[in-house]
Amino acid sequence: MMRCVVAKKPGGADQLEVVELPKPIPASGELLIRVHTTALNRTDILMREGKTGYVSNPIIGVEIAGTVVEINGVSPFSIGDKVMGLVNGGGYAEYVVMPIDRAMKIPESFTFEEAAAIPEVYLTAYQTLIWIGKLQEHETVLIHAGASGVGTAAIQLAKKLCKAKVIVTAGAIEKLDFCQSLGADVIINYKEQAFDQEVLRATNGQGVDLILDFIGADFWAKNLTSIKVDGRWVLIGVLGGAQIEKVNLFEIMMKRIQLTGTLLTPRSDEYKSRITNEFISTVTPYFERGEVFSVVDKIYPLEQVAEAHKRMEDNLNIGKIILQVKK
Ligand code: NAP
Repeated sequence: MMRCVVAKKPGGADQLEVVELPKPIPASGELLIRVHTTALNRTDILMREGKTGYVSNPIIGVEIAGTVVEINGVSPFSIGDKVMGLVNGGGYAEYVVMPIDRAMKIPESFTFEEAAAIPEVYLTAYQTLIWIGKLQEHETVLIHAGASGVGTAAIQLAKKLCKAKVIVTAGAIEKLDFCQSLGADVIINYKEQAFDQEVLRATNGQGVDLILDFIGADFWAKNLTSIKVDGRWVLIGVLGGAQIEKVNLFEIMMKRIQLTGTLLTPRSDEYKSRITNEFISTVTPYFERGEVFSVVDKIYPLEQVAEAHKRMEDNLNIGKIILQVKK
């Protein structure tokens, strides 16, 4: 048996409880991982609320860092190797299974806490900046929720991989200062400033080449103003609502905007393996050289999972909230 976290019934953070369930058994092509740490994601809140029909595992959590304890198949890993990566649910647990080709070796100098902060937000940032957003060298990107887990990863990747000009929004000065320390060129407090006007000011009235949009409805009109003609706009989250009352599609046509929506968790195993493997060859060297790092906000023991969820829902974190699973 193992300790793990489920929601008693769909609802708020108070529904989370640590229970004992059987350890999973690795199928062919899978590793069994002894989980040391896992990390929170917004999708975990949706899982807790029963809104992710695309995850069948009742145990919450989509990423882990730990050690390999069992291997079912041909694998480049050995028992005891330290790995991190995405799982198909089941991350908030002492043991989890993971497809062999999904596991990433933890960079030498990284702790388990730092490693658990990498997979979901870095793969999302890489996928949306590079694969979907097609960010080119020296282009300009607008990254909303700059101090979020994904935002802190995206700022670093945009600077290091693309030498992009990075404009971020966030809702607090300490968050904006942190984004600047990661390399953001222009910081905007969306609660105090009209971010679209600031973006136009910073781009000589041209707008940005790419928007990473975590907000959706609340930022729709200002995003339309902020984007360049022929700009790309990747919709990754709807923290500011999913329904827009009035949409003028003609504006999308006039600016020839490419608007793409994406969600990583329901993607296929094959897609997740492909992006993981490209990420390993492209980004891991930056981690190893210390040029890019994970941002750990706060670490909670597994038993305090409800407090950890509340911290995220109160928008208090800068970077990733970690759960310490191994005692
Ligand atoms: P996070 O660390 O929890 O940070 C989210 C931040 O967004 C909050 O701290 C808050 O910062 C800001 N925010 C919240 N509500 C807002 C609103 N109504 N208007 C403006 N800003 C708001 O988040 P995360 O885990 O990195 O995830 C960031 C986003 O990416 C989420 O929307 C998540 O669902 C999405 N995501 C998508 C994928 C995908 O595949 N599509 C994968 C991973 C994550 P401020 O204090 O600055 O307002």
